[in-house]
Amino acid sequence: MLGTHSLEKRELGRTREKIPVIGMGTWEIGDVQNEGRLLEIQALRKGIEFGMSMIDTAEMYGYGNAEKLVGEAIKGMRDEVFIVTKVSPEHFGYDDILRSCESSIRRLGVEHIDLYLLHWPTREVPIEETMKAMEELVSRGKIRYIGVSNFSVAQTSKAREALPRSEIACNQARYSLTHRAIESELLPFCEKERLTVIAYSPLDTGKVLTKKIPPGLQEKYGMTPAQLMLNWVTYKETVVAIPKASKIEHVKENAVAVSTRISADDYKTLSRLFD
Ligand code: NAP
Repeated sequence: MLGTHSLEKRELGRTREKIPVIGMGTWEIGDVQNEGRLLEIQALRKGIEFGMSMIDTAEMYGYGNAEKLVGEAIKGMRDEVFIVTKVSPEHFGYDDILRSCESSIRRLGVEHIDLYLLHWPTREVPIEETMKAMEELVSRGKIRYIGVSNFSVAQTSKAREALPRSEIACNQARYSLTHRAIESELLPFCEKERLTVIAYSPLDTGKVLTKKIPPGLQEKYGMTPAQLMLNWVTYKETVVAIPKASKIEHVKENAVAVSTRISADDYKTLSRLFD
């Protein structure tokens, strides 16, 4: 069933904040003009209405254009939306982060960012300096929670040690039925330490499976391959997913992808197929 807040929510790390198990990505959104732009805005607004109220963006997406589009899409709906954005590694210096965050806030047209992520690890700036700036942003009320993206277990641990007063709430990592690298170390680590994994490219960037799904599984659940992929990727409590969809039909499909859960046996069957 579609409707606001109908989607399952999960705790973000240990923050007690609840976020929807399916959010929305915005990579490659915001670069077209006129009708295309309106359609992208409409898709995001529909998604929020259907409960996918976590929007993931980044300062580097379209050099700020994605954040601007998100800002337009959430006008009048700010309180219903959980905004995630990311600072790029070339801005990990103390003053650079403060500036980047201000710019993101301005482009998004908000008072604060809900979750601010370090987009990738870098060796150029000591993590202690970077995290000092992140804590400063929390204390100024510019961001609510801190997270990382594309960090290994060792890098995440080091980043945690560099945060005396705050916690790292999540690690955003590539994860889908067909990209399973995090299962060996990062996923077990996040489960043990209670960090949320935000699965990016959960539909394998649109290379949605068709041929490999076992016969009968789609019919059994009345799900499309994309819905099965989203259902599978969020099977574990630690994981939420952020599919990107600019087509309304895709938005609608994704919003109901977890309204029924696949069985443990079918989860295992799908897992084995792509091992
Ligand atoms: P994705 O979400 O796996 O795939 C997006 C593609 O799937 C689009 O072409 C979309 O088509 C299509 N799609 C969406 N829903 C569908 C459905 N129900 N049925 C069939 N096709 C469907 O790939 P992604 O954009 O790479 O990843 C998602 C988000 O993760 C990004 O947008 C970004 O916010 C984030 N991300 C983060 C990082 C990082 O380094 N932290 C890296 C990559 C991505 P339409 O658009 O035509 O609807």
